Amino acid sequence: MTFSVHGITVSRGIAIGRAVLVASSRMDVAHYFIEPDQVEAEIGRLRAARDAVVQELQRLRQDIPRDTPPELAALLDVHLMLLQDGQMSAAVRAWVTERLYHAEWALTTQLEQVARQFDEMQDDYLRERKADLEQVVERLLRHLKGAAAPITAPPRAPRRTEQLLLEDAQDAPLVLVAHDLSPADMLQFKKSVFTGFVTDVGGKTSHTAIVARSMNIPAVVGARAASQLVRQDDWVVIDGDAGVIVVNPSSIVLAEYGFKQRQGEIERGRLTRLRNTPSVTLDGQRVELLANIEQPGDTEAALAVGAVGVGLFRTEFMFMGRAGELPREEEQYLAYRRAVEGMHGMQVTIRTVDVGADKPLDDRRDAAHLNPALGLRAIRWSLAEPAMFLTQLRAILRAAAHGKVCLLIPMLAHAREIRLTLDLLERARAQLESREILHGPVKLGAMIEVPAAAMTLPLFIRHFDYLSIGTNDLIQYTLAIDRADESVAHLYDPLHPAVLKMVAGTIASARAAGKEVNVCGEMAGDPGMTRLLLGLGLRSFSMHPAQILTVKQEILRADAAKLAPWAQAVLESEDPAAMLQQG
Ligand code: PEP
Ligand code: MG
Repeated sequence: MTFSVHGITVSRGIAIGRAVLVASSRMDVAHYFIEPDQVEAEIGRLRAARDAVVQELQRLRQDIPRDTPPELAALLDVHLMLLQDGQMSAAVRAWVTERLYHAEWALTTQLEQVARQFDEMQDDYLRERKADLEQVVERLLRHLKGAAAPITAPPRAPRRTEQLLLEDAQDAPLVLVAHDLSPADMLQFKKSVFTGFVTDVGGKTSHTAIVARSMNIPAVVGARAASQLVRQDDWVVIDGDAGVIVVNPSSIVLAEYGFKQRQGEIERGRLTRLRNTPSVTLDGQRVELLANIEQPGDTEAALAVGAVGVGLFRTEFMFMGRAGELPREEEQYLAYRRAVEGMHGMQVTIRTVDVGADKPLDDRRDAAHLNPALGLRAIRWSLAEPAMFLTQLRAILRAAAHGKVCLLIPMLAHAREIRLTLDLLERARAQLESREILHGPVKLGAMIEVPAAAMTLPLFIRHFDYLSIGTNDLIQYTLAIDRADESVAHLYDPLHPAVLKMVAGTIASARAAGKEVNVCGEMAGDPGMTRLLLGLGLRSFSMHPAQILTVKQEILRADAAKLAPWAQAVLESEDPAAMLQQG
């Protein structure tokens, strides 16, 4: 049956493929592909875990005290039966052999499949057996945890629609459908085979969406019940332009989307010709286009689209998904150095760690705090963990010996935070000097992403070399809208007059003081905002590489001098969105 689900568009383009459902239960596991030569070993791990759990349950069964209710023994029998069920084991093995899922992923995928069947049963008794199955899987996962899991992701090139229609469905492109994905999970997927993805939750500037955009694959978030409605292996069209997914499309609809997909490819091909064109407006204003990256290897994508530097390296991804173990100084130094050398002498902005809110240190969301976005996040966490912060600062200063480095501090709001940060930076430098370790100078920047900072700009201008406007958080904190919550996504408004006033004020104040200023939030990569930002005087934009050429095209067509009075009128308007549409 064909049906469609509406969500929020976060990354443009069309993807067509078969659905891979990723379980996001309390048994959340990482999702990795294995290499074909690891299949045997992985099946061996599954077998060993099953044998261990069978023995464990049999021991329990033997040692049941006499006065225990008979139901307990019966329950253990059910668990043993589930474990020894040949059909179930074969299905789990098939995920490993056919899809190259690692053992834990194969188990939870099969659990999800069977759980759905249980949910649909009329009989209460049978429906409740789902809990038994979950308990058995949990036991298996505990045993698997002891055995090392391989972590690899063989890359496969995405295929075009006409190819996939001809080919065995087994080889079709895959699209990912999940209730939610942590940014750390997304980074794993970045190295893998998916050509598009859909999640039930999330907003336009949630970190998961940002990573998706950097992968440059079509994506829709906030698609509510998509992960419940879509079945494993369903054919799915992800229309990243319209924020819609179409499930099991008819051949006519499929052909239409295939046509749209090819048009998109032609358009992207046309844009690549702008790669080496200088980014200058019609009236001769030079505009700097920088890249946002999450990993050192992303510099390749930045160079491929002609970025003239990195305006934001989100270092937190190096800290996430490592079960609380923090990266050491040497590991960080080598990663930063790789990014710096990867840009061949162009500036690289390394932002100090910004964990917290929807970027928790480990894979689980921060459920312990009611308002993690207002909690111990970014610089607040860094200042609360000075040893961790000093380690990162030393690593960045060392990387600065290899190229032009800007050091950017997230989420500052208080004068005291500025003082403490500057003191720690001095201390990190002194430590390197006393240890005679090579290090270099950095340009120091502050992110303006908390309204309090945008309203006390002279303080920031006094202490920093430049400012970088983080519109994602500035909007979140100004409008009291959780950027990751799809239920308030309609209120997340970059054009709200209060937001525009702060963005415009920051650009104007920095320029008046002769300080550099850029925007590194998602607003910078939105081509619908380029003319307005140019009109407000912005001359430096930082965005995910996938957007750079589209924004450059807008810049080449713009006349900055003419845009200035128009931008002032937009600022004073009650309905800036309408003015933007009129142009
Ligand atoms: C921002 O808030 O705009 C920003 C660039 O930082 P992040 O999205 O990483 O919070
Ligand atoms: Mg931010």
